[in-house]
Amino acid sequence: MASPFGQNALKKAPIPKPTNPTLAPTVSQTLRTPGLSKISFRLGSVEVTGMQFSQVAQAVDSGRIKCWTVDEFESQGTDELPDGRLVESRYGIQSNAMLFSRADYGKKPGEDQTIVHESVHAAFDLMVPAKKTMTTLSIEDEAAAVLAAAFYIRLCGKQEHGFKLGGGGEAEALELVDQAVRDPGVFNVVNGKFFFTPEETQALRYAVSMSRNYKKFIDKTDGLPTDRTGAVYTYNGVPVCGKKGCK
Ligand SMILES: [Zn+2]
Repeated sequence: MASPFGQNALKKAPIPKPTNPTLAPTVSQTLRTPGLSKISFRLGSVEVTGMQFSQVAQAVDSGRIKCWTVDEFESQGTDELPDGRLVESRYGIQSNAMLFSRADYGKKPGEDQTIVHESVHAAFDLMVPAKKTMTTLSIEDEAAAVLAAAFYIRLCGKQEHGFKLGGGGEAEALELVDQAVRDPGVFNVVNGKFFFTPEETQALRYAVSMSRNYKKFIDKTDGLPTDRTGAVYTYNGVPVCGKKGCK
């Protein structure tokens, strides 16, 4: 979930502490919300389970996954944040950091949903063994993150706070979750885990692909057909660091 452009991102900030001492506890606490552990679904080749959220919470507590503000992130000079872009949140695969627009992010209504979304990406990165990589289809990865946030709202009894207006599949995700909660019998559920079919997630995937440009289209700059439907994320794991370095 990245969004608009702003000027704050241009100014340089001091060298960051390992993790932001305000953000990290907020993220950790959000990921320990009762009810979150009940999330369990598969969407295409990606899977989201409640256990992943506690694993991310632990990694945030130990500083293995960092939480930074945009300004702290900028001073790293790494990762793929485009120049001048101010994001509300994102997960940095290279930096192993969850990035938020403010140090008190997560305190305003609905921002907890975004923390859940980003933690899905962080969880996938955590799953990768040392020195290995794992690729996911971006469309499935993002759809799963949006769907997890929708499950969070319903399973944890949270208010929507404009979630449906997200425009990146949020409305479709919430509709799917509402069906799943209301009538789980029509879905393929094994041991509490929803195995969503391509048909069931079609509307969600379509909205995700349109909002994030994972689609076939004619490129306006060169007039040629362009296919981004196979876009992937490549996770490279989160090192464990100690006094003797990282591995
Ligand atoms: Zn995302």
